[in-house]
Order: sequence, then structure tokens, then C-alpha cells
Amino acid sequence: MTTYQAPLKDIQFLLNDVFQIDRFSNLAGFAEAPADVRAAVLTEAAKLSEELLHPLNAIGDIEGCVRHEDDSVRTPRGFREAFRQLGDGGWIGLSAPVEYGGQGLPTTLSNAIGEMFSSANMSLEMYAGLTRGAVAALLMHGSEQQKHQFIPKMLAGEWTGTMNLTEPHCGTDLGMMRTKAVKQPDGSYKISGTKIFISGGEQDLTENIIHLVLARIEGAPAGIKGVSLFVVPKRLINEDGTLGEQNGVSCGSIEHKMGIRGSATCVLNYEGARGWLVGRENKGMEAMFVMMNEARLGVGQQALSQSEVAYQNAANYAKERLQGRALGGTQSPEKPADPIIVHPDVRLTLLSIRAFNEAARALILWTSLKQDLARRSYDPGERELAEDHMGLLTPVIKGMLSEKGFANTVFAQQIFGGHGYIVETGMEQFVRDCRITMLYEGANGIQALDLVARKLPRDSGRAIQALFNEVSSFIEENASEPKLAPYTKPLRRSLLDLEQATALLMRRLAKHPNEAIAVSTDFMHLLGLVALGYMWSRIVKAAHEKIAAGDQSPHLTTKPLVGLFFVERILPETSAYLAKIQSGAAVLMTMPAEAF
Ligand SMILES: Cc1cc2nc3c(=O)[nH]c(=O)nc-3n(C[C@H](O)[C@H](O)[C@H](O)COP(=O)(O)OP(=O)(O)OC[C@H]3O[C@@H](n4cnc5c(N)ncnc54)[C@H](O)[C@@H]3O)c2cc1C
Repeated sequence: MTTYQAPLKDIQFLLNDVFQIDRFSNLAGFAEAPADVRAAVLTEAAKLSEELLHPLNAIGDIEGCVRHEDDSVRTPRGFREAFRQLGDGGWIGLSAPVEYGGQGLPTTLSNAIGEMFSSANMSLEMYAGLTRGAVAALLMHGSEQQKHQFIPKMLAGEWTGTMNLTEPHCGTDLGMMRTKAVKQPDGSYKISGTKIFISGGEQDLTENIIHLVLARIEGAPAGIKGVSLFVVPKRLINEDGTLGEQNGVSCGSIEHKMGIRGSATCVLNYEGARGWLVGRENKGMEAMFVMMNEARLGVGQQALSQSEVAYQNAANYAKERLQGRALGGTQSPEKPADPIIVHPDVRLTLLSIRAFNEAARALILWTSLKQDLARRSYDPGERELAEDHMGLLTPVIKGMLSEKGFANTVFAQQIFGGHGYIVETGMEQFVRDCRITMLYEGANGIQALDLVARKLPRDSGRAIQALFNEVSSFIEENASEPKLAPYTKPLRRSLLDLEQATALLMRRLAKHPNEAIAVSTDFMHLLGLVALGYMWSRIVKAAHEKIAAGDQSPHLTTKPLVGLFFVERILPETSAYLAKIQSGAAVLMTMPAEAF
């Protein structure tokens, strides 16, 4: 049996003190969410996470989803009622426009809540997360009619959304897509083909499912340039808005998989299903990327969420499990042994996870704030900066955070010794559930490729230059602050590693792109470490300010310690990444394929 306590204090500290989001009350929706409203909403979300969603997590894993002969899919016990509560409570549409039934509050706030829901029950949260992503794509690229027809029901949790890219022969390389779309006289399309691995493709949570499907219109150009996006409801919708007949889409099977067993992963067969174009012909990737980018941030957050809940359980266990005596002298003489938290190696493991979690949470909320600025700011310059940030950091959050988050679930399992390998402790479920975060939404190698080949050189490196400027300005502004020196000095060294690596990759990209791409994963980690190091400097600065103002709560007084662990034991890895980046492609590419 696992436990979960939502990190309410940490989230509020980040929103209120580190990022001071009240500074943005001129943005739509921010004035409606002052600190007291945020506190009330977050507290309610924490309660839902702890009392409703978390107890269903193990049940979802044990029962999984079941497909019946009639193609219907049963989700685990309790999921339907819980999802209903998420819809009724307005949680799915928290940051969606009021015009379509959302609450219009900041995305920063809804993303903070997303972490809690996902820690509590990643499988169940996925149905809501994908629905939010599909809504975002429709908002940006759908017609007025599509928006009014689909979005309000999706935000209310009456219908869910899915994303349909993958086909049996076409995963990463979407240009090979075969699903086809044939235009009908009434302007709709008939969609035919097979999509695989579709999360939430069939389920019994809601009366309808709105599939966003990539397909190729007859006669479209070959490759990715000939792919269009369609909205294909599972059940057609009558003119009066009531549900009509079943559309030509059915669930052929569901996958039996390593983790997230409460999330139905479906093969969907489209047999002349009626669909409607979203956005422009052959511009499907442009529209789908809205959903994919949301999902990529969401996946990074899923990894954090599993790392967090795994940490909490490991830390509790380490304080209870009695084994051995502390090297420096017995700590609990009244007991037959000391709790394992006294051992340096156990502390190393726990601190490694925690130092990542707290900075990763900050990085996600900082990026969420940029997402709000990109969409809501009135200042075009600010919007551009925010877009740049999102473009650069999205693959890092997806790729680096999922790799570390997964490793952390294994570390947390380690704290349980052999008991972590036993199903009943629940620790192995976190490992299994988190593993997918490195794979879906573009496997991590693809995130690194996207970062180095596309995002880094875009606009002559404008986005990374802005990041350099921001981090170095912070370091300069705080140069005379002795309490921050232990954080900003190592950060400066790591920033130099990143600047050197960036200059090298920019040169290589211009002349020998393969040399740059061969080290893209290392670069993704280097950039991620600097971003997390910067987060720690900001966290510690805000914590010291609150402590100096008289707040001695342990949540704040531990920040400088955990931050110091990060800069002393984790951040120095940037120099190893720089060395690897300097090595180039030859060592990878020389051996002939048949020799592997
Ligand atoms: C549980 C689950 C849920 C999913 N949900 C959805 C969903 O809702 N909708 C949806 O459309 N899809 C979904 N997927 C599919 C998922 O996004 C794909 O599995 C993923 O994109 C990778 O595609 P692939 O499995 O075909 O791997 P492949 O494309 O075959 O790749 C295999 C390996 O080769 C590497 N590789 C491939 N090409 C390159 C390259 N050019 N450069 C470097 N490395 C490369 C990849 O990184 C990967 O490690 C889901 C998958 C799973 C398992």
C-alpha cells in the first residue's frame, strides 16, 4: 500500500514567492486567481488527489482495462465515477476559455494540479490530459462550428479526446502514414486505416470520444507534407446536438502492457468513418503539434509525478525500516537497529531524487508561466520570448525529465531493498508506470534530435541566447549576496560548459550536422542540468528571503540544504557532458552495422 501527500506547500511557494505570479495580474485569468483563490483551488485538488484518485491507482493496475466482444472497453473499478467528478468539478477545463465552458484560470495553476492528479493516478489523469490537449488543438486550429460543437462537452468531461498518429509500420516516421481520407460531396471526409497504441481510444468513462486523426487526403503529396488533421467523433452528433449513430471507428484490440494499465491503449480501425478537416489541407502536423507540445510537457510532468510519489514512499520507509547502526554512533539505542535513513548511501539516494523533484517542479511551472505569456500577453515581444522558451525547453522537459524521473522511481524502489521488488509495496508499479514516459510522445532520442537539429539553431540561436542572458543576469544581480554564492558560482561554471557546448554545436550544425546530432542526448542533459541549477538558485533566493522575514517552516529551511546537494553532487555532471559532446560522431558511426 502506497501513500501520497500532494506537495501543496511547495507548489504555493513556487507560484507565490519564486515566480511571484501575481505580477501578471494584467493577463487574462490571472486577476481571477489571486493567492487566496489559488490556495483554495489547490487545496481542493490535493484532497481529490489524495482521497479519490490515489486509492484507485493500485486497483487500476491490478484490474487493468478489459475489451469485450462487442469492441467496448471497461476501465478499472471506480474510474468512471472519479472521472465524472473531475468533469463535474470543472477540473478538465480549469484553464480553458470561459466562452467554451472553461474557467479561464492560468495554465500555470492547472499544470500544478496536473502533477498532483498524475502522482495520485497517472492512468486516470491521462484521459483528462489528452482531452485538454485535443481541446487546445481545436481551439487553435478548429473552425468556429467545431469549437462550439466539441469543446464544451469535452471540458465538462462528458466526452474525451484522443490523438491518433501511430500506425503499425509508422511510429517516429510519420511521413510513412497510410490512413487515408476521401473527400465527400458534403465537405466531410471518409477516413480509413488502422491506428495503434491510441491512449483512451475506447473506454466506458464517457458517452462519446472525439478522435483527432492524422490521415492523408487522396492525391496529397508524399511524406509528412501530405498529412492532414481530422476530427472524428466515435458517435456522430445530430444537428440538435444529441448523439447520433455510431461512426465507422471501432476498437480492434487493447494492449497488455508493462504499466499504466488503467489507461486503455487501443488499436482503432477506421472503416469509412466520417471526419472533418481541422485547419488546412496538408497542414495536419501544424495543428497536431499543438496537442503534441502540450502532451510533451505533460509527459515530463508525468515523470516528475511518479518520481515525487515514489520519493515520498521511499522517504517514509527509510525513517521506519531498522537495519544496521549509524557509522558515527548509534542513533536509536532503544531499538534493535537504527532506521536506514542514518546511512549515507540511503541519504544520497533520497537527496538525489528530491533535489531533482523540487527543481523539476519549478522548471515545469516556470515553463507553464511562459505558456500563459505566449498565449495571453498583450506584448508581442513578451509573447515571442515566451514562445522561444517553450520551443527550446519542451524537448528538454520531455526527454531529460522523463529519463531522470524514471531513474528516480528505480532509486526509490532501491530504498525498499528486496521489498521494493514485491508487488504489495507498490513501488514496482511506479517504475512500470513511469517507464512509458521515455517512450511515447516521441521517444527520447527524438526529443534530443528536435532540440539540437531544430530548436537550437532556429532564429540563429535566439532562444538559447535569451536563456544565457537570463541566467547570467541572475548570477550578476546576485553576485554580492554571500548566501547565494554557493549556488551561483557552480551555476556560472555549468553555464560556461553549456555556452561552450552550444558554440561547438552551432559550428558543427553549419558544417557537419551529423557531428552535432550524434551528441544531442548529451546536450539535452547538459541544458536540462543548467536549467535545474538555475531553478535551484531562484528557489534558494526566495527561500532565504522568506526565512529572513521570519518564516522558519521546515519546508523553507530545508531548501538551501537540498539545493546545495544539487549543486555539489549533481550539477558538476555538466563538465562530463561537455567532454562527451566534444567527442563527436566518429566513435558511434565507424563500426559497420553488421558488426553489432
Ligand atoms: C502505452 C502507449 C501509449 C501510446 N499512446 C499513443 C497515442 O495516444 N497516440 C499515438 O498516436 N501514439 C501513441 N503511442 C505511440 C508512441 O508515441 C510511439 O510508440 C512512439 O512515438 C515511438 O514509435 P515506435 O514505437 O513506432 O518506435 P520507432 O519509431 O520504431 O522507434 C524505435 C526506436 O528508434 C529510435 N528512432 C527512430 N527513428 C529515429 C531517428 N530518426 N533518429 C534517432 N532515433 C530514432 C526511437 O527513438 C526509438 O528508440 C503510444 C505508445 C504506447 C506504448
